[in-house]
Amino acid sequence: MSLKEIITIPNSVLASQAELITNIDDRLVRLAIDMAETMYKAPGIGLAANQVGELIQLIVLDVVYPYTDISEKKKQPVVLINPEITLCEGETEGEEGCLSVPDFAVDVKRSARIQVKATNLDGDPVTIEADGLLARALQHEIDHLRGVTILEHATPLRRNMYTRKAVKKVRRNG
Ligand code: ZN
Repeated sequence: MSLKEIITIPNSVLASQAELITNIDDRLVRLAIDMAETMYKAPGIGLAANQVGELIQLIVLDVVYPYTDISEKKKQPVVLINPEITLCEGETEGEEGCLSVPDFAVDVKRSARIQVKATNLDGDPVTIEADGLLARALQHEIDHLRGVTILEHATPLRRNMYTRKAVKKVRRNG
């Protein structure tokens, strides 16, 4: 197990479409475990493979762990391969942040209830019906796989200001 470096704006991998996964091998399983540990360490409630520099359709989430009583904490990450939103219903707005967009938050409109079909690490098909925070986190992570971050949900002015600052920071740090 090893922690991954979380890639931040303006790295182009965050703006790129992730490829479908066709083969579940040891490397993929290890990557999923590493991504989950990286997510817990950050801490965050979800992570997409783009965010650790892998352009493949893999996401990990755990919206329960951060809100669990300390004595009952148990890591049970949800790992989804090739997730696809197959139904959505209603609309809800809420503030989101992102590990790849540090020091930034924006109100994002999402579907209130969704159904997601995916494959798990055993290669079995899974269907998830979600609302609340899980629905929001799933939509956020699936956005990443399409090369979309929460910056796209900000006004062009805020987005440009943030990106300009991030580019400057990269230059300064070499
Ligand atoms: Zn994110």
